[in-house]
Amino acid sequence: MTLSMPIPVALQTRSLFISAGHSMTDPGAVGNGLNEADIVLDFRDRLYEFLADRIVLARDGKPGINLPLRQACEMAKRHDIAVEFHCNAAESSSATGTETLSAPSDDEFGDQLCTAIADTLNISNRGDKGEGDGQHSRLAFIRAGGVIVELFFITNSRDLAAYHEHLDALVGAVGRVLISRVCVSDHEAAAA
Ligand SMILES: [Zn+2]
Repeated sequence: MTLSMPIPVALQTRSLFISAGHSMTDPGAVGNGLNEADIVLDFRDRLYEFLADRIVLARDGKPGINLPLRQACEMAKRHDIAVEFHCNAAESSSATGTETLSAPSDDEFGDQLCTAIADTLNISNRGDKGEGDGQHSRLAFIRAGGVIVELFFITNSRDLAAYHEHLDALVGAVGRVLISRVCVSDHEAAAA
């Protein structure tokens, strides 16, 4: 038995902010009897709990509270990495899958998030889209340096069922992508 100190697996080098889309007064999209704001607020809090054991991060409100977009954008500007969660919606109930909206510099990060979500939920991977694909309110968050994640389509009952079935796994999968984005591995740290 040796007395050596445990070797840290990763070192956090960037600050992280996670945000729930919409707010306490803006429910966002509605589908299958649920509203988007309730889903993404619950997701943000679960993700926060997962991450808070491992890294330092901030969120747009205390548990169960979802601050308005304007405040979320102000917080996003103060962090290196900012991610806001939404649900997609479409008139066609067959529209499916996950996608991200980001500035070009976050293309690869967006694709990593999409792959983690699509693989965990077994829904289609729509990939990272340019900021031009977003609605006006989403552009504000991207221009504040953030990435928008459309987890799945709230209007698709199969997407929704997959989300509820694999929620714990999804929190872990998204959480691991975020950890890798804000930390360097011990290998990278040693090389620096
Ligand atoms: Zn939304």
